[in-house]
Amino acid sequence: MKNIPSKELKAVKIYIDGLVQGVGFRPFIFRLAKQFNLAGLVENRNDCVRIKIEGSSAAIDDFVSAIKNDPPALARIESVVCKQAEVEGFCDFSISVNNNVTDKVTLVSPDVAVCNACLKDIKTQPDRLYYPFVNCVDCGPRFSLIRLLPYHRANTCMDKFKMCENCQAEYDDPENRRFDAQPNACSICGPQYTLVFNDSLITGSKEITGKTCGLIKAGKIAAIKGVGGFHLVCDARNYDAVKRIRAGKNREGKPFAVLMPNIETAKKYVYINESEEEVLMSRRRPILLLKIKENLAPNICVGLNRLGVMIAYTPLHYMLFEHGEFDALVFTSGNATDSPIIIDNDRAEKELGKIADALLIYNREIYNRCDDSVGVVVNSKIRVIRRSRGFAPDPVNLDFDVEGIIGAGAELKNCFCVGKGNRAILSQHIGDLKNIEIFNLYNESIERFSSLFKVKPKLIARDMHPDYLSTKYANDSGLETIAVQHHHAHIASCMAENEYYSDLIGVCFDGAGFGDDGNIWGGEIFIINDVINYRRYAHLDYLPLPGGDKAAKEPWRIAVSYLYKTFGKGFVEIDLPFLKEVSEGDINMMVSLIDQQINAPLTSSMGRLFDAVSAIINLCLFSTFEAEAPMRLENIVDEKVKERYEYGIDGAIDATGIIKGVVNDMADRVSAPIISTKFHNSVVSIILDASIKARLETGINAVALSGGLFQNSYILEKSENALKQNGFKVYTHSNVPANDGGVALGQLVIAAKKRRSKCV
Ligand code: ZN
Ligand code: ZN
Ligand code: FE
Repeated sequence: MKNIPSKELKAVKIYIDGLVQGVGFRPFIFRLAKQFNLAGLVENRNDCVRIKIEGSSAAIDDFVSAIKNDPPALARIESVVCKQAEVEGFCDFSISVNNNVTDKVTLVSPDVAVCNACLKDIKTQPDRLYYPFVNCVDCGPRFSLIRLLPYHRANTCMDKFKMCENCQAEYDDPENRRFDAQPNACSICGPQYTLVFNDSLITGSKEITGKTCGLIKAGKIAAIKGVGGFHLVCDARNYDAVKRIRAGKNREGKPFAVLMPNIETAKKYVYINESEEEVLMSRRRPILLLKIKENLAPNICVGLNRLGVMIAYTPLHYMLFEHGEFDALVFTSGNATDSPIIIDNDRAEKELGKIADALLIYNREIYNRCDDSVGVVVNSKIRVIRRSRGFAPDPVNLDFDVEGIIGAGAELKNCFCVGKGNRAILSQHIGDLKNIEIFNLYNESIERFSSLFKVKPKLIARDMHPDYLSTKYANDSGLETIAVQHHHAHIASCMAENEYYSDLIGVCFDGAGFGDDGNIWGGEIFIINDVINYRRYAHLDYLPLPGGDKAAKEPWRIAVSYLYKTFGKGFVEIDLPFLKEVSEGDINMMVSLIDQQINAPLTSSMGRLFDAVSAIINLCLFSTFEAEAPMRLENIVDEKVKERYEYGIDGAIDATGIIKGVVNDMADRVSAPIISTKFHNSVVSIILDASIKARLETGINAVALSGGLFQNSYILEKSENALKQNGFKVYTHSNVPANDGGVALGQLVIAAKKRRSKCV
């Protein structure tokens, strides 16, 4: 601080909150301080980055505006607070390492795809940096490695690797891109991959990538440890290899995702528009569902017109593609169907070793497992379907206190949610809690989130369903709990994501959720006041589900129930091909279950109506994976078709007109794509008509669309557009799933609002 007279010397403390750790923030501050000739220090605290700065007041002003206007690529500043301070007489600027601990915490960065500068290093510094774990402050793993805050190497899975001289020099040099990069490592000092093949162990970056590619080219399957867990990998053009992965994972129909080297290659196989390209190439690098142009192996994605594609996101991926010249690799999570993605080497060897011919493992722990995220782009926005790597643990910011509240989530596609200050932190995708290993993972992950974010759970918001395992978790916790209706939670999650808390019409079209009357809801139109009060304004007319839970897996049962409801017993005489695929005895059994009201619970689920239509047109009688019937129905939609079927909307929403229309069209031999589209158009029209009716009665002009059915791109796009054209303000999901993966957020928000209004 030479040239400044001491009386003009000012001192300011600056507190910066947001995503400011693990993103190169302190080196950025360091360089700025030098640039503006300022002295002081910067430190990471649990709850913020704190800067003490001394210099001329003009320079400090410029410094603060530069922080706000041009932060590092990965940073997201949420607040900058400046306070006058005493001049301490710093003579230089430095980065301090301290172990400040408070209960407030700052954000943890999600895992981020490798950056271009690091990819260049792989090529230009072959000795040290032709290395599958190369990273810098702008890229690399974060959430998957972090155990505790603040974000220091000692609090991550990198703690056991000591940096070599070169790495340490980079780490210490404020001018270097790896300055203060916690996972900094090179081929000399960092974690190492080992290829396990035929009892031999191969190491060395060139050797393992070369050999792995050779094996894949020869039709072999590799189990590869990645950022958040293992993948099973094979050549996406090799039918037999794909078939073996299918058999090994015991996965009949569900499509596999593929990894591609770059956007140009992806464009050969799928249609990609501008916003899709942006999402595909974003640092989050999710799997994006895209319309197929040219087929890879035909058994990757059977009978569906969308392929799940992601672009290479780790240095290893790029090294493999460079060696192998593959267009695409199957990259499916390494687990048995419905179990958690495998993260440890022994387990992989034991279980994936049965499927894979070779294992590519490394000697660093994965602390927070993370599947690949999945999404689709609708109306130019990403719609996340599975929220995990690249997204978790980004919070949803709220303008009210949610400290200590846990949203326990639903049962399928579970994510939970932890309240910290004014932030709702959604977990990574956990999965189907009915699997005992997933349930254990759920318990462990809630504990880890609570400790990472220093949350003392006080209140658990859970689903109203008495038998959900998330309900059991809440009840066994010994904490105060609050039960939240499933579809109310869906709508509240959509409101929170959009920061909209005024009165609104909530359209929740979903699979299934426990209703206030004990029936299975799922085709609901609510009027919501003050977030916490909801009135069931209208719902899809009740239908018996013969066989209960089994009906959701066997759409033909629901078709029979709808036909019976629409036509009475005479429906068996109708000439429908699907009725011949099922035995007369089975059909009669359904009718008698319904008649005698034995194991035939009532549902208003819109998902089941999709199942029924899918079965009536003989598209899907038995589901081999969740929501297969609606997916197959959406898959054949023909955008050119504008007609729809008739339905009733006075009182309950009556779908028998739709069923009649479908049956008539079947008799007239109308094609399946036309029937499917007319059906989709009918659902869009129901959403619009019901909203208009509700607006007339209540004067409310805002609509939220939530529930699993809004994963259907056609329904979401058309209903969002139709509502907007009719003057509605429309709220939809983007970064929070419309499906049950988003429910925990809604539960937490409702619990917080109730706590505030002293309802609990
Ligand atoms: Zn980088
Ligand atoms: Zn090194
Ligand atoms: Fe749901």
